[in-house]
Amino acid sequence: MRIFLVLFFILKFQYLSAVEFLGKFEQGAFILGKTNPSSKVKIDNRNIRVSKDGYFAFGLDRDRKNNVLIIIKTDVETKKIEKKVLKREYKIQRIDGLPSKQVTPPPEVYERIKKDNVLIGKARSIDTAYDFFKDKFIYPIDKYIITGVYGSQRILNGKPRRPHYGIDFHAPEGTPVKAMMDGEVTLSESDMYFTGGTIIFDHGHGISTLYMHMKDINVEVGQKVKKGQIVGTLGQSGRATGPHLDIRLNWFDIKLDPASILN
Ligand SMILES: [Zn+2]
Repeated sequence: MRIFLVLFFILKFQYLSAVEFLGKFEQGAFILGKTNPSSKVKIDNRNIRVSKDGYFAFGLDRDRKNNVLIIIKTDVETKKIEKKVLKREYKIQRIDGLPSKQVTPPPEVYERIKKDNVLIGKARSIDTAYDFFKDKFIYPIDKYIITGVYGSQRILNGKPRRPHYGIDFHAPEGTPVKAMMDGEVTLSESDMYFTGGTIIFDHGHGISTLYMHMKDINVEVGQKVKKGQIVGTLGQSGRATGPHLDIRLNWFDIKLDPASILN
């Protein structure tokens, strides 16, 4: 009897001890988790996928304030983990006295903007069993100057604009742009109002990357890409003030800091 009890506790311990996280629990972060493949995982009461090897992924909003609740359920027990989310300081820039044309898009383009947003939203909501996100992402271009970071915000004529959710890589127009990770193309549009030439890649479990302001795009929806593959060239299409590549990282509708997969 006693030996069975001991065995039971050893087995139980092995099941429960196997939860690991890669990533810092701070605002905007991408978090990679690993647990027993037979576990069920909930993040903030939302069921999320666990890969065949036990990997799962999620992210934290730019302005996230409350703790994250992670529930790992196995056949033997339910484990609740609560993690504090570290606050970050973002760059805030105030510019006053701008002509109003620069601040608000003209009404005739509202329909177009709405259509673009629906397409982008659809691509970001895709939930596949791919588990490419578990590997190391690479930079999309080789030589660049970073001119914009995640989280920064401008206040124009006293009106707070949407925060900047990407990283801007400044480089000459026509610079080849690479896929940061294996994935499948879920959006490929040559002329969106704000974002110009736009690509979205699905890396599995709701993790996607988005490229904007592309000059040329040489991949199409449904196409599989490999990490490092050239997918197009850098441009200044859409509402861009100069040639640059703006990359985004998403966990479904939550916009994450791309720096959290690159560093
Ligand atoms: Zn940008």
